[in-house]
Amino acid sequence: MNLYTCPCCEAQIKKTNVTHKLFDVLHKWETNGIVLSKSTWGNYPNNITLTLYKCNNCDYGVFLPMTIGSDAFYTDITLHEYYLTDRWDFHVAIKVLRSAKSHSVLDIGCGQGAFLDMVTKQLPNISCHGNDANSAIREKLPQGVALHTDLQDAPSNLDAVTLFQVIEHVSDSVSLLKTSIAKLRVGGLLVVSVPDHSGPIRFFADSHTAIPPHHVSIWTPSSLNSLLDKLGLKILIQKWEPLPDYLMETYLPKILSHKLGCLGNPSWEARIQHFLANPIIRFCFKFKIKYLPFRGHTYLIVAQKRDLA
Ligand SMILES: [Zn+2]
Repeated sequence: MNLYTCPCCEAQIKKTNVTHKLFDVLHKWETNGIVLSKSTWGNYPNNITLTLYKCNNCDYGVFLPMTIGSDAFYTDITLHEYYLTDRWDFHVAIKVLRSAKSHSVLDIGCGQGAFLDMVTKQLPNISCHGNDANSAIREKLPQGVALHTDLQDAPSNLDAVTLFQVIEHVSDSVSLLKTSIAKLRVGGLLVVSVPDHSGPIRFFADSHTAIPPHHVSIWTPSSLNSLLDKLGLKILIQKWEPLPDYLMETYLPKILSHKLGCLGNPSWEARIQHFLANPIIRFCFKFKIKYLPFRGHTYLIVAQKRDLA
């Protein structure tokens, strides 16, 4: 079948020419320093071809057949501290919870609890719940955080539910968002962050970190806004991460080449990197400038549950 309906805006999703062989992607992880265990390889016995399907209306994308990261795959890639703990989206969410005077929060896909650790330190009056299928993380979570390995067991009527860089990893993001919304009280806040594929990530669309089994769907502000609107939420806040220092070396040469109309011309891109991007980056590192005013990696949205009664 070549046609699907977009879960965000209900336009048609069409097959693109973008394909990846699964084994090539797994080998790419290994050439980038991640050793994949036998169990991980065992989870992916066939070298299937992953094809990108895209909505031309809202830019939502999904790779089919659906191939998500197995538990063994995530164990392998997190061994190398792939995940940052001090993140822009966490800081934005803390401000949101503080100004909303939230008393309870559930962090879905909480991992080792980096965000909930920030909440317990900065907003000690909030009761914290984490959801993660991996029960082994229980001992790593900050004291006082309740872990629910099954999301259905988490309490309802919450003031806030957060999903940081989660929905792009799961096979059914719509149903996960519906369950998340069901956990909120009326007037409660849903905070969602995603890699923004309308930002500079689009220059690295073939990166092994942006395709299955790691990321199975592709999000833009337009697709996420459409979906949350369709699910009945009121969009309150939209935020774009500025370009952070740790991504400058990768993103800035491409961003500047794009702005100067030289993207795709290797010799001009090399000159822009050498004479423009590198001096700017050295300046930022010397003077400890943490962000540049270009679009960075992440888009974050805060939406409110309406009273549908
Ligand atoms: Zn769409």
